[in-house]
Amino acid sequence: MNKTFDAIVCGGSLAGSAAAVTLARQNRSVLVLDKAEFPRSKLCGGLLTWKSVQLLGLLFGETPETMAEHGIIRYVSDRYSIRTFTSTLAEGTVSYPFHLTDRAELDNRLLYHVRRAGALVREGEEVAACDPASGEVVLKDGRTARGRYIIGADGAHSTVRAGFPEVNLRAMRRFTAATIEVKIPAADIPETVDRPILYVGFVDAGYGWVFPNGENVLIGICGLRREDTHFAKLFRSFLDVLGVDPAVLTCQRGHPLPYGSFLHDPVHANALLAGDAGGYVEPLFGEGIFYALCTGMYAGRAVAHALEHDTEPGPEYLRLLHRTILPELNGSNTLRWFLFRAMKLFGPGAIRRFVRFGAGPLGDMVHGKRSYHWLRKKDWHFPEPGA
Ligand SMILES: Cc1cc2nc3c(=O)[nH]c(=O)nc-3n(C[C@H](O)[C@H](O)[C@H](O)COP(=O)(O)OP(=O)(O)OC[C@H]3O[C@@H](n4cnc5c(N)ncnc54)[C@H](O)[C@@H]3O)c2cc1C
Repeated sequence: MNKTFDAIVCGGSLAGSAAAVTLARQNRSVLVLDKAEFPRSKLCGGLLTWKSVQLLGLLFGETPETMAEHGIIRYVSDRYSIRTFTSTLAEGTVSYPFHLTDRAELDNRLLYHVRRAGALVREGEEVAACDPASGEVVLKDGRTARGRYIIGADGAHSTVRAGFPEVNLRAMRRFTAATIEVKIPAADIPETVDRPILYVGFVDAGYGWVFPNGENVLIGICGLRREDTHFAKLFRSFLDVLGVDPAVLTCQRGHPLPYGSFLHDPVHANALLAGDAGGYVEPLFGEGIFYALCTGMYAGRAVAHALEHDTEPGPEYLRLLHRTILPELNGSNTLRWFLFRAMKLFGPGAIRRFVRFGAGPLGDMVHGKRSYHWLRKKDWHFPEPGA
């Protein structure tokens, strides 16, 4: 770790792997640092939309078939349900199936591709601080590493982001949701869960989910307005409604979910933020996998472009984000406040009317075949810097 790398990527999960593989394939020297040893568990519903599957193919050459072979995809369903505790508001099929993954296996596989592309990956190395101006990264044990550029892909609690003086952490926290998720054997829930199911109307500015995942089921809630004991109680009442005996829970964990906290300017000196570190999660359904992969890829492309042309990566990164990602996140943010307010005024039945208005196009919007802006048809182009 003594040389100066072209880039140091802090965090080796989705955003970090996407950034690192992009740079390494352009023969750039990349050091990836992650505090965890992979495979490691990651709290996540693991639901992949169509656009996530496209990007996994583009970046890593993975397809649903190869991911199934490697035990990553645990369930596939083109059906969905949206419910309250007492009724079903909407259910049906979508034009492309949802792929439900095991995040531990997915993240581990992506890191394998990163290594194969030529990046140096160091697991079990926690970043304690970094200096975006000099490119110096300080590890927890005091050792240092240096990169011409730093990509902060170290998740919702980002240490790299702490070196960005202009980021308003209080504002970010305000739009960070609390979550609780558990994994239980499918046999421990009375209903046969054969599709992703969302539950609305019981969490303020949030929702609950029940996702099939192979022989298991993932049950979780997320919400913006939370007060710890109340939130945990809400989760217990959710389990009650599902008929799940709390005694079967072996582990109940929480993790922050950026939920409307995305940054418009995630660049400071020689450092860029990607994925959850920059708050890039779609603020209605909480989809973060696609946005982590996409912002990681853009950060990698912007750095590769800067190294090639001896310029700064910041302007290119911002241009790519503002052209493709931020319009979708802004559109989704507007839609979520509209829906949350409609539910407050008219009750959860507002969702029934909304989905009836256009179930097919709304499903396409979630998958990325339509835009969060007025459901316009969308074809995701992933522009190169300068294009
Ligand atoms: C309960 C829950 C359910 C979710 N369900 C879905 C879903 O079904 N579909 C979907 O699309 N999205 C979902 N998301 C969102 C999705 O999980 C995240 O948006 C996504 O994981 C972000 O990827 P990332 O690479 O930015 O960060 P992360 O996946 O959080 O990875 C950050 C990495 O950085 C490492 N790291 C952190 N700090 C340091 C440090 N100081 N030094 C070194 N390494 C460090 C960590 O070990 C980790 O590997 C969910 C999130 C939650 C919390």
